Amino acid sequence: MMSGFSRSRAVGLLAAAALLTATAACGSGSAETAATSSSADGGKAEVVAAFYPLQWLTEQVGGSDASVTGLTAPGVEPHDLELSIQQVTELKDAALTVYIKGIQPAVDDAVEPDTSFDAAIAVTTIPAGEHTEEEGAEEGAEEEHGHEELSYDPHLWLDPARLATVATKLGERLAAADPAHAQGYKDRAAKTAATLGTLDQEFTKGLTTCKTRTLVTAHEAFGYLADRYKLKQVGITLDPETEPSPTRLSEVAKLAKAEGVTTIFTESLVSPKVAEVLAAQVGAKTAVLDPLESKPSGDYLSAMRDNLKTLQTALGCTA
Ligand SMILES: [Zn+2]
Repeated sequence: MMSGFSRSRAVGLLAAAALLTATAACGSGSAETAATSSSADGGKAEVVAAFYPLQWLTEQVGGSDASVTGLTAPGVEPHDLELSIQQVTELKDAALTVYIKGIQPAVDDAVEPDTSFDAAIAVTTIPAGEHTEEEGAEEGAEEEHGHEELSYDPHLWLDPARLATVATKLGERLAAADPAHAQGYKDRAAKTAATLGTLDQEFTKGLTTCKTRTLVTAHEAFGYLADRYKLKQVGITLDPETEPSPTRLSEVAKLAKAEGVTTIFTESLVSPKVAEVLAAQVGAKTAVLDPLESKPSGDYLSAMRDNLKTLQTALGCTA
């Protein structure tokens, strides 16, 4: 009797709380909220960035006009991110949240259209990686990964040219969210886009003449890099946490031998075991290619230049 009463009361309270949240979320007050938060911290706009490459980009474009908070701590695999109540509050109070829909389900659920910037909308996306050849993929593992049900590949920051476009559009969006500092955002966005344009030229030049253009990676994070620089990415798995089937492994091994692959790429946050097994089968080496899902030891630019050197060596490119 008592417990039945408390349960229905609890349900009633939850419903009331949900109603309050809904009212707060969809009122016409979003613009005022943004303006308030931009003047809260000594005139700096509070901006939230979902994970490392976006945090780096937002800091470049935001400069001294923005106070940028990252949601994903260094070393954390961003797809697995869960938000604390405090982070959800930060995100709701921020003038802008910069994210990529499809990378982190927790962030996708928390953002609100008026105060968020989805970098995937700013660029031309490429289709999501598919393992149509691998019919034996375990279904449970697939559902747990953040990328599923997306029609596009969300790892767009690995193409500097696309990231330059994101920088420009982010500058416009920040200028709109914090009009008092509009010119500063636009100037820094232009400078950042130019820096990324230079990086893009270095990649284009450095990867022009190579012995092989096939890129065998532990998991398919480099689709945009391959798309931009005319490489062919062969991912051993789509999901870094899934063990590939023996069929898939021997398929990739055959292909790697046929295309003169000398190096199998691994990445810092993922166990190199699968890549090592494959490398042994093919008679290849392994090397680390950083998908930059977490903060590197330097920054975005230096890590991308390291990636370029690694690629040039592995693919036998002559600059
Ligand atoms: Zn990923």
